[in-house]
Amino acid sequence: MIDAYYRNGQLFLAELLKRKDDDKYFGMDEVEEILKDLAIDDNFIKQNLREPAKEFIGEITIGDKTSERDILKAFKGKGFPISSRSYNAGITPTFFKTSKGECSYCGNKDEVLNHVSYIFPFFRKIDSITPDNNKLKLCKKCAFTLYSGMAYLYQKGAELLFFFDSYNFKSLKKINHFFKKEADLLDPSNKNRIRKFDRYPTYHPYDTIFIIFFEFVKRLHQKNLLPELEEVSNEVRLLMSYGSGQIYHYYVLEGNLINKLTRFFRTLMEKGKEFKSEQNNIPMEDLILSRFFLNLRINKGKFEEDTRLRNLFVEYIIKNEKINFEIINEIIMGRIKDKTKPHVPPYYKTFITTFLEVFGLSEEKDMFERLNGLGYSLGNRMKGTNLESYIWEVFRARGAEELYNVLVELQLKLKDSMDLRPLKEHEDEWRKVKAIIVNGMANALYGGGKSE
Ligand SMILES: [Zn+2]
Repeated sequence: MIDAYYRNGQLFLAELLKRKDDDKYFGMDEVEEILKDLAIDDNFIKQNLREPAKEFIGEITIGDKTSERDILKAFKGKGFPISSRSYNAGITPTFFKTSKGECSYCGNKDEVLNHVSYIFPFFRKIDSITPDNNKLKLCKKCAFTLYSGMAYLYQKGAELLFFFDSYNFKSLKKINHFFKKEADLLDPSNKNRIRKFDRYPTYHPYDTIFIIFFEFVKRLHQKNLLPELEEVSNEVRLLMSYGSGQIYHYYVLEGNLINKLTRFFRTLMEKGKEFKSEQNNIPMEDLILSRFFLNLRINKGKFEEDTRLRNLFVEYIIKNEKINFEIINEIIMGRIKDKTKPHVPPYYKTFITTFLEVFGLSEEKDMFERLNGLGYSLGNRMKGTNLESYIWEVFRARGAEELYNVLVELQLKLKDSMDLRPLKEHEDEWRKVKAIIVNGMANALYGGGKSE
């Protein structure tokens, strides 16, 4: 993680140098080339101390004359833990107070300084429980480069921090440019903090990053910039950290996931046009995702509880690149029980088949379509009869055999016989099989009247 953060600092410093002295660096595009002869000494640090902070916090708060104390106050406001001692001393002493030692990052034996939270924020929690001799010691060059990484550090709420990475500086520059400038995702009054999306309130980290990324793709789509994003998305990673107190979690979304998610969201937005006549009050790009995603919650009376399962569902997508049908099933049954409408999140089938197609899961798609079709047909036949509540019998079945038996019994009651072979073929995955069938059933019983 520190390498990735360091690269963001390098990118920012190279851009800063070019901006300040275009003649000297004219024609130079490579970050390494621009930084080659740069000596990060006390003078350089003093002169450029405010630049990364301006990017991170915003020029409204941080100007060329803002005191170091006020910058620290702003850092603290961003959630960086800052001790009262350094708070009074300012920022420069952190960089200037050195002792002989070895840099933990580059290994140079030179003057080193002690790491503080705003140099490399992802070390902070470990910092407070690590014995002194294990703490990060950094040479001035590494420390200031890392400190500059905050220029491309993004924040949502107090608990979610993330940034992009790429081994290719051109791709890193492009994704940050798209994210900061083109997509208009940042809160103008509080730079690098993601704005509030009125349509998509979220609380949990995976839920939140999913929506931020969707909004990012949507806004680039509206500007016809998606082909350019797709060119670089394979070589770009997203590193996120979330949590509070002493417990922090990290997760890296690798390039191929970023690429697939981009294509997935684009396809959902394009498919939205097919349903144009159905909803006039929702923009086409948002139609499928918002109708599905916003109804993927249970009413527990507290937003963070309501969306806990949805976050798990999204986390599963991000970590496994698969759909967890059991979680959706739990949500749907919860909604039926609480009489929350619509019981089945609209565009259920569209969302899932699009996902399975874009993520290249053709076998899974085949299985889904057969079992969903089976559940849907059963549900259709149950509709309007006194057997509607039988959905609960199926839902409660435990084990492949019991599931099979309860479905056979249902068929008998319906005086019908359907092909239950798909069940037998996936016996070892009975939980998933059951979830898909019950979801299909619920969709026929309570859905919008189409297999959607
Ligand atoms: Zn170093």
